[in-house]
Amino acid sequence: MIALYLCIAALFAGPAPDREDALSMLGRTQLDCPACRKAFTTVVCVRSNTRGGVDRDLFARSLGAQPEFYRISTCPRCGYSGYLADFDPSVTLPPDVTDQILRSPRLTLPPGFGPDSDPGELDASARYALALTCYQWRHKSDEAIAWLHLRFSWVEREKGSHLPPDSRLKRALAYIERWRPPLGPTDNQLDVEMKLATRTSEALLTGRFTRYQRPYIELALALILRRHGENAQAGSILRRLQQADAGFFSDDLRTGMATMLESMVREREHQQRAADCFERALLADLVPAGNRPSAMYLLGELFRRLGREAEALEWFDRALKEATLPADLRAWTEQQRSLCLGSWPQK
Ligand SMILES: [Zn+2]
Repeated sequence: MIALYLCIAALFAGPAPDREDALSMLGRTQLDCPACRKAFTTVVCVRSNTRGGVDRDLFARSLGAQPEFYRISTCPRCGYSGYLADFDPSVTLPPDVTDQILRSPRLTLPPGFGPDSDPGELDASARYALALTCYQWRHKSDEAIAWLHLRFSWVEREKGSHLPPDSRLKRALAYIERWRPPLGPTDNQLDVEMKLATRTSEALLTGRFTRYQRPYIELALALILRRHGENAQAGSILRRLQQADAGFFSDDLRTGMATMLESMVREREHQQRAADCFERALLADLVPAGNRPSAMYLLGELFRRLGREAEALEWFDRALKEATLPADLRAWTEQQRSLCLGSWPQK
């Protein structure tokens, strides 16, 4: 079982020393497939950090490679996929599950990926999709499936948080840096970037930019919000910019903006499924007692991100009533609850 509760204090690893070993690092390890018995090499994250910031739905970013992209391994022969623990020698698959994986309907590996392929060639989204199928066939718990969907949503967020290089966007991003608060040794990079986003929004409201600068400042703001999965706001800016675009943006940027909006749709699908599974597990009392308060917070935060404020408030309130909700998560619950109150009830 994957531990639900993450000690948030432990997620802040202090200031980044200016050395290469401050970055996360990838390595390779040998695994044996419990379905087809093939021995293969997989890519794993052997050293990580959280200096890229921790989003309020617990997505912790590293400086360097993102650990979430390397949590799932895939057997290159049969496609069986899961966490490293799912390849542990103690794992025994029921015969009907092995049959399903090896015979019909078999797991489908992307074209061109086969037993002799380098495991690093398989996209993280393909590995997560295969792992979800395996988890469903193995009848894993709602909580375990919820975590796979949640991690999958983080992968889509990270993959969708980039725009093609553009000199005017680069200038806008450099310009707004004046509003970035300093990052203290125990600060969360996410808080710093959200303050930068708030200050940028305020500057836009005061009308301090020319009509040539404004679309790029707005695009820079959308990029920061997208990076942290604040998709309701990011999406509304992007759609407005698309509609108002009178040749401001290059074709590459226009394509990048459309791709970013598509990535939000994929992220949302996984958030919805994660929320459904967490809610089912909580309502059926199937989440271990020690994890329940944190799961309630997380479910509230997922509903907030999905724009389902009434359900978000309900779960935040339930989390706050739990005496064992850890202090750091209690502070986050109160903050995120007040964000919901700002937009609910709809006026
Ligand atoms: Zn296999």
